Amino acid sequence: MNSVQSTSSLTVAKFGGTSVADFQAMLRCAHIIKNDTSNRLIVVSASAGVTNYLVRLSQKNIPVNEQKDIVENIRVIQVNITQHLSSEVEAALNQEINSLLDELTQHALTQSLQYSTKTTDAILAFGEQFSSRIFAQVLQSIDVAGGYFNVQQVMKTNSLHGKAVVDINELSKQCTLLLAPKLVDKVIVTQGFIGQDSHGHTTTLGRGGSDYSAALLAEALNGTNLSIWTDVVGIFTTDPRITDQARAIKEISFGEAAEMATFGAKILHPATLIPAMRRNIPVFVGSSKEPEKGGTQIKKEVESNPTYRSIALRREQTLVTVKSPAMLHASGFLAKVFGVLAKHELSVDLITTSEISVALTFDNPSGSTQSLITNTVVAELEQLCEVSVENGLSLVAVIGNGLTGAKGIGQSIFETINDINIRMICHGASANNLCFLVDERDANFVVEKLHNTLFS
Ligand code: ASP
Ligand code: MG
Repeated sequence: MNSVQSTSSLTVAKFGGTSVADFQAMLRCAHIIKNDTSNRLIVVSASAGVTNYLVRLSQKNIPVNEQKDIVENIRVIQVNITQHLSSEVEAALNQEINSLLDELTQHALTQSLQYSTKTTDAILAFGEQFSSRIFAQVLQSIDVAGGYFNVQQVMKTNSLHGKAVVDINELSKQCTLLLAPKLVDKVIVTQGFIGQDSHGHTTTLGRGGSDYSAALLAEALNGTNLSIWTDVVGIFTTDPRITDQARAIKEISFGEAAEMATFGAKILHPATLIPAMRRNIPVFVGSSKEPEKGGTQIKKEVESNPTYRSIALRREQTLVTVKSPAMLHASGFLAKVFGVLAKHELSVDLITTSEISVALTFDNPSGSTQSLITNTVVAELEQLCEVSVENGLSLVAVIGNGLTGAKGIGQSIFETINDINIRMICHGASANNLCFLVDERDANFVVEKLHNTLFS
């Protein structure tokens, strides 16, 4: 068996849902790991599709028949993978899978009797439990000494179910104690996305949170590199589904990539780069299907810093405008508005203000089931001011360098799309971006046209 010898380099490698979707996909990942012995801690997502099934299972009032179908569909996805392993390993894994599925069914039952976000998290965590156990065995099947580790031993969080906040001091302490010693002679496979609160209850970090888990673990373990393996060959100048002119970016700075992750096509969970930047850990993004094609390196210093690096598009934006004559020459109004938003844990992306009104944008996470700005939120804001909520908007972010200092930026951008209605513009806070909102129906056209002009 291959054992890990070098202690100087430690890469945390994260494999996303499509990378662990089936046996062939897992095998490709296993070879990526075997080919580079710096890969020591492997963080996996649930197999593609599984978390979506679990989200459905965790909802209120799911008919019993549908519950059964969902559990069966998940079972099929997993045993279709284990059947490619040796018959002993297959039997042992299937036994584990079946008992986990029994537990899952119990949670679904509890949920249908008494709904809680605590049970939701308990349900959502199963996807990563399956994939990590199976993937550890796929690694062993190609002679990589792969061990399995329950990340809940170290990923300690608060009790904010659905978007739990990780205690990074505790994480670092527990990693040193429990995880680092295991990495000396084994490649360890663990779960992204999930954690545990101080009561021992399962928590989750939010959809797509496995990237962030991997980054936090890289930070806690003093990792030298973080690799995010996905189904695209890196970060592109824009979404290649919108224009075939889009091309992969070889190198990008942390600042630019952070803007892209926040406003972009959701290649990386937006929080991923924060731990990496704190410890200056370079991040690689590549495709596990085509590792030979390379990918994008994200790091502190890069060789070129072009004015325009990329154009990101984020759909499903909600624009909330609050208006109050009381705001005129008054202080403390914004604090009250943000007080309401903070109470409901709503995070604002963009903001513009005028004399008596403020416009705020919110991102609706994909896969979310409730509308973000609930009637309760609106009612509470209406105590303070007039409120209007608009949906059907897209956020276009032009990302690059020195955007607040360069001349002619506005002209290059807005002249190109002068026949489009721009609903809101944000510029000036960061030298790395200029953002604006357009009608959802104009979004693709705007991105394509801007890309042709700025990147030709
Ligand atoms: N499995 C979780 C999700 O689908 C976490 C992740 O994949 O990052 O959201
Ligand atoms: Mg993801």
